[in-house]
Amino acid sequence: MSSNSVKTSDRTVSQVAEELYLKCIRCGKCLSVCPVYRETRIETMSPRGKVALYRAIGEADLEISEIYANKFYTCLMCEACREVCPSGVELDVILSRSRADLAHSGLLPLLLQQLSTVIVNAGNISDEDNVQRLGWTENMASRPVGLDYSGQVEMTYFVGCVSSLFPASYRIPQSLVGILEKAGVNYALLGGEERCCGYPLLLNGESERALEMARHNVEAVRATGAPQVVMSCPSCYHMWTHTYPEMLGDDALAGIDILHETEMLAELARAGRLRFKPWPATVTYHDSCDLGRKSGIFEAPREVLRAIPELELVEMADHHGHSLCCGGGGNLETYNRELAQALPARRLRQAQDAGASTIVVSCQQCKRTLAGAARREKMRIRVTDLAEVVAEQLEEPHA
Ligand code: SF4
Ligand code: SF4
Repeated sequence: MSSNSVKTSDRTVSQVAEELYLKCIRCGKCLSVCPVYRETRIETMSPRGKVALYRAIGEADLEISEIYANKFYTCLMCEACREVCPSGVELDVILSRSRADLAHSGLLPLLLQQLSTVIVNAGNISDEDNVQRLGWTENMASRPVGLDYSGQVEMTYFVGCVSSLFPASYRIPQSLVGILEKAGVNYALLGGEERCCGYPLLLNGESERALEMARHNVEAVRATGAPQVVMSCPSCYHMWTHTYPEMLGDDALAGIDILHETEMLAELARAGRLRFKPWPATVTYHDSCDLGRKSGIFEAPREVLRAIPELELVEMADHHGHSLCCGGGGNLETYNRELAQALPARRLRQAQDAGASTIVVSCQQCKRTLAGAARREKMRIRVTDLAEVVAEQLEEPHA
């Protein structure tokens, strides 16, 4: 199929490509921040290279191919390139439309096809029976109250696939439910009724499949009757706040307030419902791409950390909107594990250079990739999630 004939919403590929290509002044700023380009030094893997490739395909009536697919799936979808572009080239549009065109043309790489099949059939990213989502509750001192919720529920906790199913991440939901219980929040857990939020499917370019996940999850949260839903995963949060309304319409989410754990913890701290023990440590905070750059949440986690007595918060060289991806984005880990694993060491070195002994994240995927790199590289730095920090530093149940 000619790529020129591919329709992308209301404009053809060639129209979109031409508009965006003409905006590019070839300054090279995007190359300097692109983790993939910095690692590979391959021009056609760079953001600017992708812009040129997208245009060439649209203009010259070339067949899209596996080689073309390789360029676009070798990307973290971190949007660092869009953030620095002085000409306003919407690189995120090019990246997501290219993947959609590829998936619709039967050029989704095999490993990503397999991931897609697993998510659709199992409801989660690791091909487990979906009831195993409650594995993280099994070694807790007491059964989470949210499993037996009743009455007027204040909040549903949407746990996410990684925290639910990867034992190294279990402490994140364990910590969060502990905090909710100490703060006296009446909350609900969905267990096997929760499914993958659909983000990996969207990253593949399969929005129709992601839509099915969205419909199911919104219904499951509505069934609890809770007016709020909190999530510790920035990708789930981004899906619920940005993509679900686009897919389902604003009305589908009317009456549901969506919070990330960092916002909820900041609110509880502000309201005096969390009291902290001193923590005399030098700590830095890693902005995940989906929570920071893509969702605009930067201050809530820093506000919580600053509320801990004796903690010194330092910033890394790249922070806030210019944060460096941990390597865990864009389904790259599934598509090219070796490349994805080569990326997080740079971030850890930035934390060490800032003088931090601990790097705090608010994303289970970032925790997994950064902690894995620290082990592989034998770097002496602790990686922990904000929910774990809060649970450890809580002085006493709220008054
Ligand atoms: S930063 Fe923007 S204008 Fe500069 S080369 Fe990259 S895409 Fe082109
Ligand atoms: S989204 Fe990230 S990895 Fe992909 S081209 Fe842009 S900077 Fe590079």
